[in-house]
Amino acid sequence: MRMKSQSPNAVRSRPDITINKRRLLRDLNAVSRIGLGDHGSVTRLVFSIKELRSRQFLIHQMRQIGLQINIDRIGNIFGRLEGSYPKAPAVLAGSHLDTVLQGGKYDGTMGVIAALEAARTLKEHNVPLRSPVEVVCFVGEESSRFGFSTLGSSLVAGEVRAEDLTNASDVQGAKLEDILAGLGIHRNNLLSLRRDPSSLKAYLELHIEQGPILEARRKPIGVVTSIAAPTRFKVIIIGQADHSGTTPMDMRKDALVAAAELTVAVEGICRQHSDMDKGRVVGTVGALKIEPGVINAVPGKAELAVDVRSITASAKNRVVRLVEAKIREIALRRKVKIKILPIRKEDPVPLDKRVVHLLRDCCEAREIPYEIMPSGAGHDAMQMAKITPAGMLFIPSRRGISHNPLEWSAPQDISLGAQLLLDAIVRAANEKI
Ligand SMILES: [Zn+2]
Repeated sequence: MRMKSQSPNAVRSRPDITINKRRLLRDLNAVSRIGLGDHGSVTRLVFSIKELRSRQFLIHQMRQIGLQINIDRIGNIFGRLEGSYPKAPAVLAGSHLDTVLQGGKYDGTMGVIAALEAARTLKEHNVPLRSPVEVVCFVGEESSRFGFSTLGSSLVAGEVRAEDLTNASDVQGAKLEDILAGLGIHRNNLLSLRRDPSSLKAYLELHIEQGPILEARRKPIGVVTSIAAPTRFKVIIIGQADHSGTTPMDMRKDALVAAAELTVAVEGICRQHSDMDKGRVVGTVGALKIEPGVINAVPGKAELAVDVRSITASAKNRVVRLVEAKIREIALRRKVKIKILPIRKEDPVPLDKRVVHLLRDCCEAREIPYEIMPSGAGHDAMQMAKITPAGMLFIPSRRGISHNPLEWSAPQDISLGAQLLLDAIVRAANEKI
């Protein structure tokens, strides 16, 4: 029975609304067995069989709780728990279940499972809710397969252009469009997935930090204020493939050494802008392909993938301009042709101040020390922030390691994070934001 007359304050102070830690960890372990590989690694690339199976697992759990399930055309899953005002905008909480190649078991999954556990607890305790609550799993947050991050949440936020989908392909050359067609999903049907902002009240995401700050400061929780966003581009260097024995050093157009020089330059430029007051820029050349790639030939072609991130758009753009200038200089001096192909350019996203405030309040209500911090990694929250007030909580990652089988977070931090997520959901659903 619902207790509609209860005030939000009474809801907040009810001591019995506690998540079930054992059940939370059981579900987390169950998901991480899907795609389990060597050395405890987990691989669930977007649209792979394993990833689809993890979504099935979630749907099954949502059904058991009795959530109303809605799956959109790309496969984003929304499990809804009605509030006392069904037409009221909903509070969404979740993350993603896809992983990088040989990643860990916490990235994304923990946020989905924590939101699931929160919904289950709400239902079990008949917690009165004014607004509906939806547990959400977004498709394809990781960019490791198609170089395209936050696919599902970008579509929900209406932030995808048709050409973004056309250009994306994986390392085996499989085009995203073709994979989607194989699943019966036509590109043109996806551009209308944008969720009406008036149907949303807030988006909350619990995630592992994937960095070393919380551990270093000995804080169990981070309240995220902004999300650094990447600018990504490919650089194609065309030199000339020649015989490695007969071509004198001064007559070569070696694409790989040009690529190597550029890689070192990206590191150097980003290091000069890596302080907090300079925008905390980080830059990485994360992929390099060369042709012909044999021991007895001067490399004629190199292809690099560059990822630059910052917490401010101006710092990131400045660094990208410096990298571009360096590319022109290298091309001229080494007499190679260099093309830059943009993959994605996104602005850093500030999270909603009122939601940040609400999350801080939730920590303070339980006397939990927390760190106010930016996120260096991208998350679904940065897309959702474009259509609804969004906020994020972090828990510590051991040694800051993520996207790696060694990724680990302490069970007590996971359950604390899930508990605070539940507290925040209840308040967001019952209070004014
Ligand atoms: Zn993630």
